[in-house]
Amino acid sequence: MDRKRMRKLYELEEGQWPEADLLAVVRERYAAPAIPPCRICGGELSIQASGGGKPTVYGCSPYEDDPAEPGMLRIKEGRTGVDQHYSDSRHTDYKQGGDSLVMELARRFELLRAMVPVIGEAVDS
Ligand SMILES: [Zn+2]
Repeated sequence: MDRKRMRKLYELEEGQWPEADLLAVVRERYAAPAIPPCRICGGELSIQASGGGKPTVYGCSPYEDDPAEPGMLRIKEGRTGVDQHYSDSRHTDYKQGGDSLVMELARRFELLRAMVPVIGEAVDS
């Protein structure tokens, strides 16, 4: 949602927000973030640190599953363990992965709303 529209919304009490805008803001806030690929090799980033109320940190792991020893890891070819590639690839996700429960609730609300129209004019005018 663009900034101008957001500013107009925040001039209203939340109870007066049109449902479509309320849903859009909630979805924007709680959607799982798009984690970019590694800026060095284009590979998939994996979670390196999370929890404790801190942002989730992703990085291009120097390790991969070792097919010769199931359950074990090996260092990827061309890597030297926790290296410059790893440091330079780190991506911090301040949304901490979003919230799938909120997204599910928004989905169910939208389904219900399709079946039950708004009653009166108080909510969606
Ligand atoms: Zn990489």
